[in-house]
Amino acid sequence: MVFVDLETTGATGTVDRITEIGIVEVNEEGEVREWSSLVNPQTPIPGFIQGLTGITDEMVAGAPTFAELAEEVLSRLHGRLFVAHNARFDYGFLKNEFKRLGLDFKASVLCTVKLSRQLYPQHSKHNLDALVERHGLHMPARHRALADAAVLWQFWQVLQRQIAPDQLQQAVSQLTGRSSWPVHLDPALLEALPEHHGVYLFYGDNDLPLYIGKANNLRQRVLSHFSADHRASKEMNLSQQVRRVEWIETEGEMGALLKEAQLIKQWQPIHNRRLRRSSELCTWRLVPMRKGDEEGLQPELAWARDLDWGQQDAVYGLFGSQRDAVKTLREIAESAQLCLVTLGLDKVPAGRPCFGYQVHACSGVCVGQESLAAHSARLQTVLSDWQVKTWPFDGPVMAREGDSWHVLDAWCYLGSAHNQADVQALLRQGRPAFDKDTYKILVSWLPKLGSVISVNDGEVYSVPLPASS
Ligand SMILES: [Zn+2]
Repeated sequence: MVFVDLETTGATGTVDRITEIGIVEVNEEGEVREWSSLVNPQTPIPGFIQGLTGITDEMVAGAPTFAELAEEVLSRLHGRLFVAHNARFDYGFLKNEFKRLGLDFKASVLCTVKLSRQLYPQHSKHNLDALVERHGLHMPARHRALADAAVLWQFWQVLQRQIAPDQLQQAVSQLTGRSSWPVHLDPALLEALPEHHGVYLFYGDNDLPLYIGKANNLRQRVLSHFSADHRASKEMNLSQQVRRVEWIETEGEMGALLKEAQLIKQWQPIHNRRLRRSSELCTWRLVPMRKGDEEGLQPELAWARDLDWGQQDAVYGLFGSQRDAVKTLREIAESAQLCLVTLGLDKVPAGRPCFGYQVHACSGVCVGQESLAAHSARLQTVLSDWQVKTWPFDGPVMAREGDSWHVLDAWCYLGSAHNQADVQALLRQGRPAFDKDTYKILVSWLPKLGSVISVNDGEVYSVPLPASS
């Protein structure tokens, strides 16, 4: 185990820097090694933090930089259980410092705040000062890294005296995610799972994914599949079949959603419910009709695969099957007293009123009591709530999320790019089939982005577009 504490220039791991590292290493034999160093943060330390820690700009001016210490720190942390108070803070800071050097640091993490909360639920305070007071720990210099790390080691020794070994082991396993990790899965995967946006794929014995999911925090989401409180029979069944986990990190949630929808369509994993092929997707469009001398509009079923979603006339509803489409249109028609025969949904001998007219559920266009024009206008009005949005841009666009660009065209997700060459490669691959999930993701996410850029001419469109366009 390594008990770790850091002092920093502030609270944000991506911006602020480390000013001191304290590490207490304890090996299997119980041998203890202490190590600490001031770190030159290469940036001024804010005055109030100098006051809090007693670490001043002068003290760190001659200290080694993190880059100079990285190898030493890594060798001390490598392969150990990383124990810290509010561990996410210290772990996150170190990860960021290593990342600046191009190093990928990963460890199994145990947070002593969470551990204290779990083992002493009767207490409400679990900050370091509360622990020191409650357990009579020795604290020579609060807010210095090695002193704080040493207090955590003392706390651990208290736990070994006060808590039954089984109970302590169980709490640690649970907090580090080890307890729920399936035995047939490589434990190294658990360490490697990032706490980041992305898509994960569960595989069984072959190369077809069993399940594909999206996560804002890959590590938490994957672990939740295996944890005790999710052991409904279905999850249990899945977690027993998983032999391998892969993941793709994304810049944000939108990218994860798009990638998930894309991969599910591509692989159709047996544990994903959304199995329906895009090719079965259908919608209603309105086509001209004649009835005697009158002209009007009639719904016609259209298959998504046959439509050009880039420049589609108005269409209404997205349905997984013809049956769903007909059922929904019947319901809409009945609630609006439209004529099912005139809509082509029912048949009666020519010149006869429809069944709906006989029970006062049709306004009577079939027997000349309503004009076909009026009936058509009402049809258009009730369908307007169901209208699928037309792709509002003149061709493909790029939508920015973090450092990546999502390339989108006609409600389709072509992929994500990091540079112009990527974008061109995606365009060459062409558009995938229209897909309802991707459509829904884009309709809800594009307005959140504020603007997109046209691939064709680099013009910036703001989203949502003004009503006139
Ligand atoms: Zn009728």
